Amino acid sequence: MSTVVSLEKYIHNDLVRRVEELSGQDLLACYQCGECSAGCPAAFAMDLLPSQVIRLLQLGQVEEVLNSATIWFCAACQTCYARCPKGVDLSRIMEALRELAMERDGDTLKHTEIPKEELEAFPQQAIIAGFRKYTL
Ligand code: SF4
Ligand code: SF4
Repeated sequence: MSTVVSLEKYIHNDLVRRVEELSGQDLLACYQCGECSAGCPAAFAMDLLPSQVIRLLQLGQVEEVLNSATIWFCAACQTCYARCPKGVDLSRIMEALRELAMERDGDTLKHTEIPKEELEAFPQQAIIAGFRKYTL
Protein backbone atom coordinates (compact mmCIF):
# COMPACT_ATOMS: atom_id res chain seq x y z
CA MET A 1 0.00 0.00 0.00
CA SER A 2 1.59 3.29 -1.08
CA THR A 3 0.64 6.51 0.68
CA VAL A 4 1.18 9.96 -0.80
CA VAL A 5 1.06 12.88 1.63
CA SER A 6 0.83 16.34 0.13
CA LEU A 7 -0.39 19.78 1.13
CA GLU A 8 -3.45 19.25 -1.11
CA LYS A 9 -4.31 16.20 0.96
CA TYR A 10 -3.54 17.88 4.25
CA ILE A 11 -4.66 15.95 7.26
CA HIS A 12 -7.67 18.14 7.98
CA ASN A 13 -9.18 18.40 4.55
CA ASP A 14 -12.96 18.79 4.09
CA LEU A 15 -13.64 15.05 3.86
CA VAL A 16 -11.70 14.34 7.05
CA ARG A 17 -13.74 17.00 8.82
CA ARG A 18 -16.96 15.38 7.54
CA VAL A 19 -15.86 12.01 8.92
CA GLU A 20 -15.17 13.63 12.30
CA GLU A 21 -18.51 15.46 12.28
CA LEU A 22 -20.57 12.44 11.27
CA SER A 23 -18.82 10.01 13.62
CA GLY A 24 -18.19 12.33 16.57
CA GLN A 25 -14.72 10.78 16.91
CA ASP A 26 -11.31 12.35 17.35
CA LEU A 27 -9.20 10.71 14.64
CA LEU A 28 -5.95 11.97 16.11
CA ALA A 29 -6.62 10.16 19.40
CA CYS A 30 -5.53 6.91 17.73
CA TYR A 31 -1.87 6.02 18.35
CA GLN A 32 -1.83 2.93 16.15
CA CYS A 33 -1.51 0.24 18.80
CA GLY A 34 -3.38 -2.23 16.56
CA GLU A 35 -5.69 -3.60 19.26
CA CYS A 36 -8.74 -2.92 17.06
CA SER A 37 -7.34 -4.88 14.12
CA ALA A 38 -6.21 -7.75 16.36
CA GLY A 39 -9.72 -8.25 17.73
CA CYS A 40 -11.86 -7.49 14.69
CA PRO A 41 -13.90 -10.58 13.72
CA ALA A 42 -14.29 -9.32 10.15
CA ALA A 43 -10.61 -8.47 9.57
CA PHE A 44 -10.03 -11.68 7.57
CA ALA A 45 -12.33 -10.31 4.83
CA MET A 46 -11.09 -6.72 4.85
CA ASP A 47 -8.68 -5.19 2.34
CA LEU A 48 -7.70 -2.53 4.91
CA LEU A 49 -7.45 -3.38 8.61
CA PRO A 50 -9.40 -1.12 10.99
CA SER A 51 -6.16 0.46 12.27
CA GLN A 52 -5.09 1.10 8.66
CA VAL A 53 -8.41 2.82 8.00
CA ILE A 54 -7.87 5.27 10.82
CA ARG A 55 -4.21 5.84 9.86
CA LEU A 56 -5.21 6.73 6.30
CA LEU A 57 -7.84 9.11 7.66
CA GLN A 58 -5.20 10.74 9.85
CA LEU A 59 -3.18 11.30 6.67
CA GLY A 60 -6.14 12.78 4.79
CA GLN A 61 -6.50 9.79 2.45
CA VAL A 62 -10.29 9.57 2.67
CA GLU A 63 -10.91 8.56 -0.94
CA GLU A 64 -8.64 5.54 -0.56
CA VAL A 65 -10.71 4.42 2.41
CA LEU A 66 -14.02 5.12 0.64
CA ASN A 67 -12.88 2.87 -2.21
CA SER A 68 -12.02 -0.04 0.07
CA ALA A 69 -14.29 -3.00 0.80
CA THR A 70 -13.53 -2.74 4.51
CA ILE A 71 -16.23 -0.18 5.30
CA TRP A 72 -18.88 -2.60 3.99
CA PHE A 73 -17.49 -5.62 5.87
CA CYS A 74 -17.59 -3.90 9.27
CA ALA A 75 -20.37 -5.55 11.27
CA ALA A 76 -20.60 -2.69 13.81
CA CYS A 77 -19.91 -5.20 16.60
CA GLN A 78 -17.88 -2.60 18.58
CA THR A 79 -15.19 -5.09 19.59
CA CYS A 80 -12.67 -2.50 18.43
CA TYR A 81 -14.25 0.14 20.66
CA ALA A 82 -14.14 -2.18 23.65
CA ARG A 83 -10.43 -2.93 23.05
CA CYS A 84 -9.27 0.58 22.16
CA PRO A 85 -7.18 2.15 24.94
CA LYS A 86 -8.00 5.62 23.57
CA GLY A 87 -11.78 5.13 23.37
CA VAL A 88 -11.97 5.48 19.59
CA ASP A 89 -15.28 4.08 18.31
CA LEU A 90 -14.33 2.73 14.91
CA SER A 91 -17.82 1.40 14.24
CA ARG A 92 -19.08 4.99 14.18
CA ILE A 93 -16.24 5.97 11.87
CA MET A 94 -17.12 3.08 9.53
CA GLU A 95 -20.77 4.17 9.55
CA ALA A 96 -19.72 7.74 8.70
CA LEU A 97 -17.60 6.41 5.84
CA ARG A 98 -20.51 4.35 4.48
CA GLU A 99 -22.67 7.47 4.57
CA LEU A 100 -20.03 9.46 2.69
CA ALA A 101 -19.59 6.68 0.11
CA MET A 102 -23.35 6.58 -0.54
CA GLU A 103 -23.50 10.37 -0.69
CA ARG A 104 -20.66 10.37 -3.23
CA ASP A 105 -22.28 7.69 -5.37
CA GLY A 106 -25.83 9.08 -5.12
CA ASP A 107 -26.78 5.66 -3.76
CA THR A 108 -29.61 6.68 -1.45
CA LEU A 109 -33.25 5.77 -0.90
CA LYS A 110 -36.19 8.02 -0.01
CA HIS A 111 -39.12 6.55 1.91
CA THR A 112 -41.49 8.35 -0.48
CA GLU A 113 -40.10 6.19 -3.32
CA ILE A 114 -41.29 2.92 -1.74
CA PRO A 115 -44.76 1.85 -2.93
CA LYS A 116 -47.37 1.89 -0.12
CA GLU A 117 -48.25 -1.80 -0.66
CA GLU A 118 -44.61 -2.81 -0.20
CA LEU A 119 -44.26 -0.67 2.91
CA GLU A 120 -47.23 -2.56 4.40
CA ALA A 121 -45.99 -5.98 3.27
CA PHE A 122 -42.32 -5.78 4.31
CA PRO A 123 -41.30 -6.80 7.86
CA GLN A 124 -40.57 -3.68 9.91
CA GLN A 125 -37.07 -4.97 10.71
CA ALA A 126 -36.25 -5.19 6.98
CA ILE A 127 -37.40 -1.62 6.39
CA ILE A 128 -35.39 -0.26 9.31
CA ALA A 129 -32.31 -2.26 8.27
CA GLY A 130 -32.67 -0.97 4.71
CA PHE A 131 -32.87 2.59 5.87
CA ARG A 132 -29.77 2.14 8.01
CA LYS A 133 -27.90 1.06 4.88
CA TYR A 134 -29.44 3.24 2.16
CA THR A 135 -30.34 6.62 3.66
CA LEU A 136 -28.34 9.59 4.88
S1 SF4 B 1 -7.24 0.28 19.19
FE1 SF4 B 1 -7.64 2.50 19.17
S2 SF4 B 1 -5.63 3.49 19.43
FE2 SF4 B 1 -5.27 1.33 18.87
S3 SF4 B 1 -5.04 1.37 16.61
FE3 SF4 B 1 -7.19 0.93 17.04
S4 SF4 B 1 -8.23 2.94 17.04
FE4 SF4 B 1 -6.02 3.30 17.23
S1 SF4 C 1 -17.04 -2.67 14.72
FE1 SF4 C 1 -16.32 -3.20 12.65
S2 SF4 C 1 -14.11 -2.65 12.66
FE2 SF4 C 1 -14.78 -2.78 14.80
S3 SF4 C 1 -14.30 -4.88 15.45
FE3 SF4 C 1 -16.46 -4.87 14.76
S4 SF4 C 1 -16.38 -5.44 12.59
FE4 SF4 C 1 -14.28 -4.84 13.20
